Amino acid sequence: MNFDTKVIHAGLHPDPHTGAIMTPIYQTSTYAQSSPGKHKGFEYSRTQNPTRKALEDNLAHLESANYALCFSSGMAAIDCIVKLLKPGDEIISSSDVYGGTFRLFTKVYENYGIDSTFIDLQDATSLEKSLSTKTKMIWVETPSNPLLQVIDIQKIAQICKEKNILLVVDNTFATPCAQNPILIGADIVVHSATKYLAGHSDVVLGALMLNDEKLYEQLAFYQNSCGATPGPMDSFLTLRGIKTLHLRVQRHSENAQKVAEFLLKQDKVKNVYYPGLQIHQGHEIAQKQMKYFGGMLSFDLKEDTPQQAFKIVERFKLFTLAESLGGVESLSGHPSTMTHASIPREERLKTGVTDSLIRLSVGVEHIDDLIKDLTQALR
Ligand SMILES: *Cc1c(COP(=O)(O)O)cnc(C)c1O
Repeated sequence: MNFDTKVIHAGLHPDPHTGAIMTPIYQTSTYAQSSPGKHKGFEYSRTQNPTRKALEDNLAHLESANYALCFSSGMAAIDCIVKLLKPGDEIISSSDVYGGTFRLFTKVYENYGIDSTFIDLQDATSLEKSLSTKTKMIWVETPSNPLLQVIDIQKIAQICKEKNILLVVDNTFATPCAQNPILIGADIVVHSATKYLAGHSDVVLGALMLNDEKLYEQLAFYQNSCGATPGPMDSFLTLRGIKTLHLRVQRHSENAQKVAEFLLKQDKVKNVYYPGLQIHQGHEIAQKQMKYFGGMLSFDLKEDTPQQAFKIVERFKLFTLAESLGGVESLSGHPSTMTHASIPREERLKTGVTDSLIRLSVGVEHIDDLIKDLTQALR
């Protein structure tokens, strides 16, 4: 199946009892057994639920993976993956990483003896120098949040294969519509489905996808044991959102490209970060590994103060100031005081997250209205 068909049909079947075309919301915690242990594959909804199973089957297909597992949030999915490690193990992560991921690795798992090192993985050779016998997992976010850094997944995967290290890719920004890390060597892909997959800012949900059966069984065991699973309503909303993923990503990308080119010409703007721009550091790698450049971009100001950025985001009429991204509506954010507030300022400035940096999640509205909103806010 082509991707555009997969989003609508893969892993899904009309309901065998009623013929319902759409997956029903199985709002039940438990299932009848005809005799102890005799059931239809469902015992208790933390362990399995038919709506969640339909979503997991669909998501596995979208990433061309054998298996998928869903969680009550993206962070719960990430948390489950870190549980594959043991005290004394180390994660090497790309430095420009989602604030919640940084917080989980440093403020939670360091207490359990799992260390994290954050390095710039845009140059894949820097990874080899940083590896030690403790390194058991490489964590890659590409394009990254909020600077849209692009990392060569295939190159990193080659290094990981040689050293027998797990490679995890957070594919939230790219979406499976633009990029399939498992096809180019990643072991596990993780998504905050809250963002583009569900796509309508009405649900919080996470997912991971992978091929290896043993790893899948271990992760499914943790999923059930720790219990951060999504409810059937949220699973349904995500399935519903996914059906238009290909249409949305195409429009998000077209709009973001035009917004990035517009911002580049503005006097007050210093840097524009968008993988679709030829001046972007990761443009060439993005062209190689992505089908679309996506709807996320960020820019900062020549007058680099939070106050200048605040003035602009307060004036936006369409780019609503809010956490999150990936919905049909445009949003703006101020990373240094919002999503990345938990990262120390020095650390933040080193990676380029300046005081005036503004992140945009470019929605699927009409481009003329978006440009008009930016024009009035910048004026
Ligand atoms: C939002 C986000 C997460 C966390 O997902 P939640 O669903 O909010 O728990 C992880 N990674 C990236 C890149 C994100 O944008």
